[in-house]
Amino acid sequence: MLLGLRHVIYDFLSIVIANIAIIMGVVLIYRGLFRFLGITLRHERWLSTTLVVLLAALLYFYTFHIPDINIRIQAFSMVCAAICLIGASGLLKHRDIRNRMVAKMLIAMFLLMSSLFIFRFFWSFYAIPPQDFMRAGLLSALTIIAGELLVILSSFCTIWMASDELQDELSEIARIDPLTGLYNRRAFDECCDIEFSRAQRSGAPFAIIMCDLDHFKNVNDEYGHHVGDEVLRRFANTLKEHIRKHDVVARFGGEEFVLLLPGKDTEQGLEVAEKLRAKTADTQITIGDDVCLTLSASFGVAHYDSRDREWSAVLHRADNALYAAKKQGRNCVVDLATKNPGEECLSRTPTVIRI
Ligand code: GH3
Ligand code: MG
Ligand code: MG
Repeated sequence: MLLGLRHVIYDFLSIVIANIAIIMGVVLIYRGLFRFLGITLRHERWLSTTLVVLLAALLYFYTFHIPDINIRIQAFSMVCAAICLIGASGLLKHRDIRNRMVAKMLIAMFLLMSSLFIFRFFWSFYAIPPQDFMRAGLLSALTIIAGELLVILSSFCTIWMASDELQDELSEIARIDPLTGLYNRRAFDECCDIEFSRAQRSGAPFAIIMCDLDHFKNVNDEYGHHVGDEVLRRFANTLKEHIRKHDVVARFGGEEFVLLLPGKDTEQGLEVAEKLRAKTADTQITIGDDVCLTLSASFGVAHYDSRDREWSAVLHRADNALYAAKKQGRNCVVDLATKNPGEECLSRTPTVIRI
């Protein structure tokens, strides 16, 4: 608008301020993109500030002291080309933009702008100096159009990238338990759906283990909720560390956790549960200077049976087995299919010990 009001408003506004506003616009576009994508480019701040101040000085000098529209066009073109190159190099440096297509479009646009301004710089040495920037010919019109395109494209790309990031964030929030970082029940259900379909198709076994910390309420009551939270995190880590990559572990709710072990039958499921039980009972949990405790957990194991109509039947058996494990005195592993609920547990140790 300021450019268009040449000869209507002061030259200072329609030349110096107008051109600086355009350059600042491009700087703000890439800075916004950099901030959004978490890009930090060394020396960018002082380089772009120096370029803008230098351009302001040149525009002022070649408007009011030695008026020369060609030199102004050359100065503006070179500064704009440099600014666009800074924008492109930041995006090129940042390799892990999720939406590569958007990144490529933006880089292409910055490079196109830059080339256009470099061409305009050299062209101005041959062209007859225009009297009015708004009537300065096709090349000027093209650079203005490219600038507009950059603004539109970058806004469009930013919205595109933002919605991609939001989608990822939302799906993570919907699937991850914030306290432990494990899958939540919803994500676990999805995994079970997939595994159950696979088992029905191929007959491949899978086992589900449900586990629950023993007398966990005592931890909260004795040490406070924050220690309880930390204990849950540590227990979650123990589970995570002792399963295979393609096993799934989730927080089912409260101090109850559940594991899906693809390809494992009852015996193997029991082995894993026993390993986790022993590891939990053997691990001393130290929090700060005053808290040092050992905990135990009870485990219920069940495996897929070809007569199961849905995977929740396996989960239900695992839950019953866990209930049986609690009834038998805790700190033990029970599989109702192979073990009589009345039998002795695998081991029994005090559940919470203060040291
Ligand atoms: P049991 O051996 O029969 O399982 O006894 P328990 O004390 O572990 O079980 P109970 O169901 O009586 O208590 C579970 C406790 O877990 C009660 C609740 O305050 C605590 N709890 C549930 N979710 C959280 C949580 O996110 N953080 C903390 N700190 N405590 C939790
Ligand atoms: Mg419990
Ligand atoms: Mg419980």
